Amino acid sequence: MTHPDVDQLDNTTKRKFFSWQMSEIKFTWLISLIFICFYNATFFNAVFKAAPIHDLKSAFFLLSISLLFFVLNTLLVSIIVFPKIVKPILAIIFIAAACVAYFMNAYGIVIHQTMIQNTMETDVKEATGLFNGTLALYIFVLGIIPSLLLLKIKINFGNFKHQAFSKAKLWGLCILAILILIAPFSADYASFFRNNKTIRQMANPANFIYATISYASASNKSVVIKPLGEDAKLNEKAAQLTKPTLFIVVVGETARADHFSINGYSKPTTPLIAQQDIINYRQVFSCGTETAVSVPCMFSNLTRAHYSDKKAKSQESLLDVLKHSGYSILWRDNNSSCKGTCDRVAYEDLRDFKIPELCNERECFDNILLNDIDKKVAAMNGNKVVVLHQKGSHGPDYYNRYPANLEIFKPVCKVNKLQDCSSEEINNAFDNSIHMTDLFLNNAIEWLKTQSSNYNTALIYLSDHGESLGEKNLYLHGMPYIIAPVEQKHVPFFFWFSPGFEQESGINRECLKAQAETEYSHDNLFHTTLGLLNVSTSLYKPELDMVGQCRH
Ligand SMILES: [Zn+2]
Repeated sequence: MTHPDVDQLDNTTKRKFFSWQMSEIKFTWLISLIFICFYNATFFNAVFKAAPIHDLKSAFFLLSISLLFFVLNTLLVSIIVFPKIVKPILAIIFIAAACVAYFMNAYGIVIHQTMIQNTMETDVKEATGLFNGTLALYIFVLGIIPSLLLLKIKINFGNFKHQAFSKAKLWGLCILAILILIAPFSADYASFFRNNKTIRQMANPANFIYATISYASASNKSVVIKPLGEDAKLNEKAAQLTKPTLFIVVVGETARADHFSINGYSKPTTPLIAQQDIINYRQVFSCGTETAVSVPCMFSNLTRAHYSDKKAKSQESLLDVLKHSGYSILWRDNNSSCKGTCDRVAYEDLRDFKIPELCNERECFDNILLNDIDKKVAAMNGNKVVVLHQKGSHGPDYYNRYPANLEIFKPVCKVNKLQDCSSEEINNAFDNSIHMTDLFLNNAIEWLKTQSSNYNTALIYLSDHGESLGEKNLYLHGMPYIIAPVEQKHVPFFFWFSPGFEQESGINRECLKAQAETEYSHDNLFHTTLGLLNVSTSLYKPELDMVGQCRH
């Protein structure tokens, strides 16, 4: 379909490209180009260092990053290119970006949310203390001059219909360009951004705009945590138990169901738990593809379909419900944190322990989670729930997750740029980390057995998400759920019940084992745990309790 108004306008703007009159699309490209060329020395310096040219492919990758950065900047600029508002907003951005460029170039600092907060809260004395001739020069050359030149430019916006058409055309073109630029290098991009997390914070002006918006929205809201399941109490079945309950939930990290030999994997990755009397489920799927989503989601009563970060952060979690019913709770962490799910229960960060047989100079292996557990559990009261949050198979440096003497599968990939390793080496390193998890889970079960005279004991193990190991040219995890491959979502899950727990809970093991191939998800953890722990609350949904039907 032809569009006479637009064609005519495009022709006139083509003729006048070098004049001070231009279409809004050309103006957008031009501003984006100016930002790329004059405000991003630190960004490109870091990119060149992180992705050096050593062959033709790496040269093209570098070109791809540069073009992608240009296209993303163009998208950002296009958001403010509207009549009346564009020039004043751009003038403010030019001046702020000039200051940011100065501080990055001179001090090598990146601007993040806390720094914006510091800037907002600074006083005149502090601000003048930072001011000098070079900063003034930056502000003049990169802030004032481009702002004045803006006054000379006439942007042809056209009527509303034409503006909408131009924007749609520009965005469509940018999205297409992004896909074309990323597609041949998807694996390189995944590892580049995973290994160089700070580089995006050097993007000027995108990063300080993002930091400012984050600061503004964070300071605008004070999160009020809504109580959850305050009606929770132990049911009459609990009153009949002869011993208190000791229940462990192991939250795995990055463990892929199909790499567990108990799920049919060809390599013997899980020989020890295979010997335990576990009830294993082979078709369990995660709520998210990254820890920050999966962990709060699995401990919330929100199903994946209804989950949002905001909702989960503004209400209590499963652990609070259990606490309301009278359980003592302890969260032990060898990962980054519990992502807010354990904020109101006892928490131990075990990452920085220095116990020679359990840790190296870098980090602790997951058996640290069982260190001194006797004492810790003994200090808790009544019925007890302990959550053990593993470092598991967190990548890309899988080879760091287990001690050297547990390198069973060889040869292994020993660099964190996975593309430099063969598929066999990557899989071996990952499988050694699963083998380490097998050892840890077995230790946890064996320890629970030692507690069986004092408690009815049980353990649930599930992983937060899976991992791509090069299939479909993808690595690591964190893909948007809707397009994430199954490798990132299919997770291991099993129960282990002591004979006392099983008997007193009236669990029919054969009935549960018959469900090994039934499809379950993180949605089931909340209700299954309430069921197993004899907690009654109006939140409980029997249809999501995996054990409910097999209990009499
Ligand atoms: Zn994770």
